[in-house]
Amino acid sequence: MGVRVVGQLRLHIVMFRGLSRFLRTNPVSVQRRMSHSSLDGKVAIVTASTDGIGLAAAQALGKRGAHVVVSSRRQANVDKAVALLKSQSIRVTGTTCNVGKGEDREKLVQLTVDQCGGIDILVSNAAVNPFFGNILDSTEDVWDKILSVNVKAAFLLTKLVVPHMEKRGGGNVIFVSSVGGYQPMQGLGPYCVSKTALLGLTRALAPELAHSNIRVNCVAPGVIKTRFSSALWENKDIVDELKKQLSIKRIGEPEEIGGTIAFLCSDDASYITGETVTVTGGMSCRL
Ligand code: NAP
Repeated sequence: MGVRVVGQLRLHIVMFRGLSRFLRTNPVSVQRRMSHSSLDGKVAIVTASTDGIGLAAAQALGKRGAHVVVSSRRQANVDKAVALLKSQSIRVTGTTCNVGKGEDREKLVQLTVDQCGGIDILVSNAAVNPFFGNILDSTEDVWDKILSVNVKAAFLLTKLVVPHMEKRGGGNVIFVSSVGGYQPMQGLGPYCVSKTALLGLTRALAPELAHSNIRVNCVAPGVIKTRFSSALWENKDIVDELKKQLSIKRIGEPEEIGGTIAFLCSDDASYITGETVTVTGGMSCRL
């Protein structure tokens, strides 16, 4: 063995010993990095959060310690969601907000800052689908409504919360897209296009907001058991057809999306930005 090779070998042994000594004497630094799922002290706005995926996201964030601000269009739904979350010992504030209306978005952000002291997390979850049919039969009104609520409002709300996140030294934005954003479903053309736009919005915003320590990510649910998708999962023929595309042979639950959202907002995901996580039971997702 040459002198140089022996020298290199010695160097490697010294480095390895140094590393094992560091890991033995600093196990906490490693462990801490791996258990950063707590959201204690964080304030989270979740839109459209009185039912379905939004409510499950509010629950998941709240159970990890965040103060959640829930909202939707109807006061009665807000009251019900607030009562439910309070019964689960979650710190919660509720208000009405139709995300399609500028004054409602501003009210939501101002109320959160006034009552909770700042904003760390935005989950932009609201979406509408007023149209079912051949895409060529969709009208300008349909496109205006879908793009305004599903895409434009998501961006404008993000723009409103960013200065408040910057004041806190960073934050997290999560958009809720859909498996339909990858593979448009028959009859849901304009809605699916709006969900594809959110994949682009995630990628466009992430590099700009990284400078402010704000991560921007997206989740794309498959078919999840909520009121929104009841026309699909209540129909046995459609479910049988869907199952052929699923690796996990069942419809998803809202909590399975809520958990993914909470993970993305936590420090466990501290190196993830600009990504869309598909939560589909194994449906193929490819643009
Ligand atoms: P959901 O169970 O029907 O709940 C909809 C929620 O949105 C309700 O709280 C409703 O309350 C609120 N809402 C409706 N329009 C609103 C508006 N303009 N502004 C504010 N809140 C509004 O729906 P979901 O299935 O959880 O859907 C949530 C998100 O997941 C949507 O973005 C949807 O596209 C996406 N997604 C769902 C599935 C699925 O299979 N369920 C799959 C992929 C993606 P009010 O009536 O009181 O406003």
